[in-house]
Amino acid sequence: MRLVRSPLLPAVHGFSTRQGGVSTGRYASLNVGARWGDTEGNVQENRRRLASDGGFALQQLICARQVHGATLLRIDGRSAEELANREADALIATDPGRAVGVYTADCVPLLMADGRGRVAAVHAGWRGTVARIAVAALEGLLEIGAHKRDFRVALGPAIGPCCFEVGEEVAAQFEHLPGAVARSPSARPHVDLRRANLELLLGAGLSREQIDLAAPCTMCERERFFSFRRDGGQIGQMLSFIVAG
Ligand SMILES: [Zn+2]
Repeated sequence: MRLVRSPLLPAVHGFSTRQGGVSTGRYASLNVGARWGDTEGNVQENRRRLASDGGFALQQLICARQVHGATLLRIDGRSAEELANREADALIATDPGRAVGVYTADCVPLLMADGRGRVAAVHAGWRGTVARIAVAALEGLLEIGAHKRDFRVALGPAIGPCCFEVGEEVAAQFEHLPGAVARSPSARPHVDLRRANLELLLGAGLSREQIDLAAPCTMCERERFFSFRRDGGQIGQMLSFIVAG
């Protein structure tokens, strides 16, 4: 299984691709999401493979119900039962071995680590980006003792500015972020979600060297990634995870 990893992050982590799983058809092959169809057996096997290759224990993985909002959830000291079905788009963990993850298929997954065991996983689609979910996660980590200078952030595979065409009403909400909107006379505006999140993090006090933006576009690379914009609903989902401690 080929996971996308960032050389910048000082924690066990990975961004899954669609490769290396057992699902077929629109879910082929490494679908780890259970929300959009697919058989439960396939999803379970895919998740088992991801945990095995990714280096974390599946029972230690916490994900939330993602709602394109700005809610942050700290999972420490809480059981999986307490956390089940909680709505959040950013998760923070510090207990050694605990893993947090977000599901995506075009939205931006952000993984954060401070090198001292504190980690965060963030789901930022365009609404979450506008709601500054990445900054909420950063501030959440600062509140529990992280220092800005120690932060490392990797933005994973997501729909790129090449493919993310939007309406004017969406573009207008990114206009204040330098480089986030590209316009041409012949096409509708295009938004660069990773660039927008970069600008938010820089605005919050991180420096460019602390942020890895190198991941590819999910919509361009059909063989490697699921893309909601490209293929519509009822497709597979990818998981981005990071392990605390
Ligand atoms: Zn693209």
